[in-house]
Amino acid sequence: MAPNIKEDIPLPKEEDKPSAVEKKPWNYQIVYINVLIFAYWHIGGLYGLYLCLDAKWPTILFNVFYYILGGWGVTAGTHRLWSHRAYKAKLPLEILLMLFQSSTAQTSVIHWCRDHRCHHKFCDTDADPHDSTKGMFFSHMGWLMVRRHPDVIKKGKTIDMSDLTSNPVLHFQLKYYVYLSVFFTFLLPALVPYYFWAESFTIAYHISLLRLVIFSHVTFCINSAAHKYGYKPYDKNITPTQIPALSFAALGEGYHNYHHVFPYDYKTAELGNNFMNLATNLIDFMAWIGWAYDLKSVSEDMVVKKMMKTGDGTDLWGRLPENDDYIWGWGDQDMSEEDKKALLHF
Ligand SMILES: [Zn+2]
Ligand SMILES: [Zn+2]
Repeated sequence: MAPNIKEDIPLPKEEDKPSAVEKKPWNYQIVYINVLIFAYWHIGGLYGLYLCLDAKWPTILFNVFYYILGGWGVTAGTHRLWSHRAYKAKLPLEILLMLFQSSTAQTSVIHWCRDHRCHHKFCDTDADPHDSTKGMFFSHMGWLMVRRHPDVIKKGKTIDMSDLTSNPVLHFQLKYYVYLSVFFTFLLPALVPYYFWAESFTIAYHISLLRLVIFSHVTFCINSAAHKYGYKPYDKNITPTQIPALSFAALGEGYHNYHHVFPYDYKTAELGNNFMNLATNLIDFMAWIGWAYDLKSVSEDMVVKKMMKTGDGTDLWGRLPENDDYIWGWGDQDMSEEDKKALLHF
C-alpha cells in the first residue's frame, strides 16, 4: 500500500444514517424544457452517429479522449473528491477537475454533490433525487425531467454543503457555470477538430453531441441499472449492485454495492481491482506527483468481514476464506470490538 493511502473510514453519525420514510402518492410535474433539451441531444447524437461514417479519425479519437477527461471530472472530481471527500487535492488538480467536469453538462459541482449526498443519505426514499424504487426510467433520466419531490427539496436543505460552498474553485464554477458549460461541453469540442485538422464544423459538433449522450447514459446507468441488476457481495439488503462491465464505461464506478457500503473509499471499488478503473489510476498518478493526498481506503480484512456478514455470497475476487467454520461463524470470534462496532453502522 502506498504511504499516502490511509485505511481510514469515518463512521457515519447516528443522525446521518438513512431513515425509512413512508412513501405517499406523488403527482409528477413534467419540466417540458428539459424534455425538449434531452430530445434535441438525442436527435443530434443520432445524427452524429450517422456522421461518424464521414468523420476524420482524429475527430473520433479526440472525442474518446474528451470523454475520458469529462469522466475524470465527474468520477475523480465531483464524485470521489467533492461528494465523498475520499481524498484531498491541491489547487491545480481541483481546477483541472472542475474544468473537466464543466464539459459534461451535469450541472455545477455544488448542485451535483448536494444531489449525490442526498442519494446516499436518503437512498430509496422520497428524498433520494433518483429513488430507484420509482422505476427504471425515473432513476435513469426521468428524475431530470420532472420537478423535484418536495422531500428532496426539504431534506436537501439539511445536507451540510459548507465544505463545498466555501471552496473558491467551486464557487467560481457556480458563478460562471452557464458560460463554462456552454464553452467546454459544446463549443470547444466542436472547435478543436474544426481548427486543428479541418474537420467539418457540423460533423465535429454532432459527434460531440453523440459523446455527450453516451456519457450521460453511462452516468445514468449507475443510478438505474446499478440499483437493479447485478451482484450484492457486500450488502444484500440494499438496492445498489455490482456491474463490472459498466465500470469500463464509467471509469470505475460500476462497483456500486461496494461503493454504497464503503462510500469513503477513493477507489469506489474493491482492493486490487483497479482494472478498468481509470479514475483510480488518475488519482494514484496525482498522488504520485503530490497533487492528491490523504487517500482513504478500506482494509481487506474489513471488506471480507462485511462480505461474510451481509453479502449475498458472491465472491467475485476470491476473497472469502475457504474455511467453512470461519464463514458460517461469520468470523465474529476474530473481529475486534472496533470492527464489530463499525459494521453496525453500515
Ligand atoms: Zn447509488
Ligand atoms: Zn457516491
